[in-house]
Amino acid sequence: MAGEGGGDASRFARLGLRTAADFVLHLPIRYEDRTRIVPIAAARDGRPAQVEGVVVRSEVIGRPRRTLRIELRDDSGSLSLRFFHFYGSQLKQFAEGRRVRAFGEARAGLFGAEMVHPQCRVVHGDEPLPETMTPVYPTVAGLGQARLRAAIGAALDALDWRETVPADVVARLGLPPVAQALRAIHRPDPGASVEALADRSAPAWRRVIFDELLAQQLSLARSRRTRSLQRAPRLADGSLAARLLASMPFTPTAAQRRVWCEIASDLARAHPMNRLLQGDVGSGKTLIAALAAAQAIGSGRQAAFMAPTEILAEQHHAKLRAPLEALGARVAWLSGSSKEIDKREVRGRVAAGEIDLLIGTHALIEDSVVFARLGLAIVDEQHRFGVAQRLALRARADAGDGPGAALPHQLMMSATPIPRTLAMTYYADLDVSVLDEMPPGRKPVTTKLVSATRRDEVIARVRAAAQAGRQVYWVCPLVDESETLELQTAIDAHETLAHELAPLGVGLVHGRLPPSAKQEVMAAFAAGALPVLVATTVIEVGVDVPNASLLIVEHAERFGLSQLHQLRGRVGRGSSESVCVLLYREPLSPAARERLKTMYETNDGFEIARRDLQQRGPGEFLGARQSGDALLRFADLERDAELAVAARETAARMLEECPEGVEAHLRRWLGSREEYLKA
Ligand code: ADP
Ligand code: MG
Repeated sequence: MAGEGGGDASRFARLGLRTAADFVLHLPIRYEDRTRIVPIAAARDGRPAQVEGVVVRSEVIGRPRRTLRIELRDDSGSLSLRFFHFYGSQLKQFAEGRRVRAFGEARAGLFGAEMVHPQCRVVHGDEPLPETMTPVYPTVAGLGQARLRAAIGAALDALDWRETVPADVVARLGLPPVAQALRAIHRPDPGASVEALADRSAPAWRRVIFDELLAQQLSLARSRRTRSLQRAPRLADGSLAARLLASMPFTPTAAQRRVWCEIASDLARAHPMNRLLQGDVGSGKTLIAALAAAQAIGSGRQAAFMAPTEILAEQHHAKLRAPLEALGARVAWLSGSSKEIDKREVRGRVAAGEIDLLIGTHALIEDSVVFARLGLAIVDEQHRFGVAQRLALRARADAGDGPGAALPHQLMMSATPIPRTLAMTYYADLDVSVLDEMPPGRKPVTTKLVSATRRDEVIARVRAAAQAGRQVYWVCPLVDESETLELQTAIDAHETLAHELAPLGVGLVHGRLPPSAKQEVMAAFAAGALPVLVATTVIEVGVDVPNASLLIVEHAERFGLSQLHQLRGRVGRGSSESVCVLLYREPLSPAARERLKTMYETNDGFEIARRDLQQRGPGEFLGARQSGDALLRFADLERDAELAVAARETAARMLEECPEGVEAHLRRWLGSREEYLKA
């Protein structure tokens, strides 16, 4: 590759730059205008500007820090350039009388206007200014803009990019040819709108974004095809599931019936199911998981059910074990903190095929776990797992290998609704079922925003609720700095509350508690023996105690939107009126204020997810790991929803009509990153 030296090559690699295409697709984050020179007197207010002048003084000042100070003068005035890190050679470079061009941000300083660490070059005679804006690229330590620019420039000059997209699509969308678009972004025309380039609304950017979305759609569609060629065991015997359903104390909602039909028919097919079950908190996803497990077991296979927290896994185990065992199924549980001897025993029975349903945490995906006849992998709260972890559960099957090897079916569940555009792009390889109906008798949770200065009133309310036989969660604040501090905060909060609420029973549950203690507290709370439960975010997902109807979140301003929504989902699960009190402390940042306002305004998980996406952007929304190594580097799914739709349609057509174009496009855009899309 152009510009590649020993050290540079590894720095380029750290930026993910290996092939010529990688370099060309490494796009600027912004531009600097070096096409003009601004009079020194006009360079002010911290705005980036380029000035040129003669060095009239150059000195090293010792205090408070060794600083190189250069005084630069032109006809309009003078300016100090300051360097806190510098080499001896720089001192010489800035000898008095030299003419220097400096690019930086001028601000008012101790000795009049100054620029700190400007980019400088000594000019000799009549050096022409660049004609185009200077691109600034994302880089890593030790790799300067100049070298990066040179390497990218060389790749760009050698660029011979065939169009991979059908011409009529490009024309209909009003987009420029791809090679032209890339040149326009790396070397904008002198007359180009910098704003349109900066906010990526320029046609050149839209073309690149379209191509990126297209690459993603192509890759997803292709892996969907691959999957349809894979084999899976047919899980077609529905009798055990029917008996399980009949033994439940309630009748399923219409949505649960519909979703169960979709899943049952997927399971009966000889291709692996890859389905996401989406349903707001409390919509009754666990029942569907249980039915799916029963269908697998009834068809002579094993099922695995993985949950992100020990409390949740334990709860699933506690709830599913009795009804399934009543039907003759063998249920076990496995967690990282179980005793080694117990773990070994469970793993042995799983491998021998003596366990039908194994429920647990991440411990399920350890190498030591091997299922004899795994037919179905269920992942609850799937958004809490990384891509690799979600794939790993399925891989625990001892499927044998060679032709005819079968993959287990996979069911993922999430209460965090994925906005439509996201689902369409990130999860195009998933079938999605939606539970859009709550079990009957639920009353919407009332949300109150209360300042921490009114804590006394909240305590009185908690006491009154507990005395009336209701149960209360008290969620401790998140502490960013450290887990230890968070733990201490929880312990302190518990002590204070136990004192304030005496003689009421106040329990405490947090992540560091030994599993047996955790189980004991949760069981006491679930049984109604404990009126108040102080908890860290370990109860954030899945916990189901229908009698709990009051939830207090301390320092609610520190939590993210989806977290608050999940927490609020712990109440409103029974038939009594539920209240969620978000205690906040002033001053609130504008973002925190916005989040609290959203929580106050809506209970709708989809609406909350939409606003969350708006406030945070898709990368953060999905978590770095899930977003597939930042696969969408340029597209923004909110802003570019229309292009995403067009990309999806184009992908379907290209797969039919021009397989060579598909290959070329994917090679260009994805290289080795494609694996990530398969989860
Ligand atoms: P989530 O979708 O958040 O996982 P759960 O599966 O925990 O929801 O269900 C929430 C509560 O609703 C549980 O107590 C469950 O027993 C109950 N439930 C589920 N389905 C029904 C139904 N059809 N009728 C009444 N209650 C139901
Ligand atoms: Mg759940």
